[in-house]
Amino acid sequence: MIKYKLICKDCNNIFDSWFSNSKEYEKLKKKKYLNCHICDSQKIEKTLMAPNVLNSSDIKSKDINKIKEIKSKLREFQKFIKDNFKYVGTNFAHEARSIHYDPKKKNKAIYGKASQKEIEDLNQEGIKTDEFPWIEDKEN
Ligand SMILES: [Zn+2]
Repeated sequence: MIKYKLICKDCNNIFDSWFSNSKEYEKLKKKKYLNCHICDSQKIEKTLMAPNVLNSSDIKSKDINKIKEIKSKLREFQKFIKDNFKYVGTNFAHEARSIHYDPKKKNKAIYGKASQKEIEDLNQEGIKTDEFPWIEDKEN
């Protein structure tokens, strides 16, 4: 499997798509099976390629230190979120909407889990969300 970042030339929407190999991408593009899920345009182009899996044997010790550093930064960030945001679990999409549509709740900050589809729906309704990787505490 290979992951490509695709960009829509009409609305500049950038999205990820998986293909079994690079030939499949070319084939689908030629047959016009690739289209933008925002504006339905077929002017889809490939942007830079994102490696789909981190192969552990490819990681040098220098990189491992870098990863540790990033993980510790993420943990700091998570602590900040936990201290300042209300956890709503899988209710995230519902809570985000209720805050968005209720002016009294405007400044409430929440965090939780949402599916890619829920995030897309929220974005389309003009509700801003931020995504970041979450490290489970058990990795400590
Ligand atoms: Zn588009």
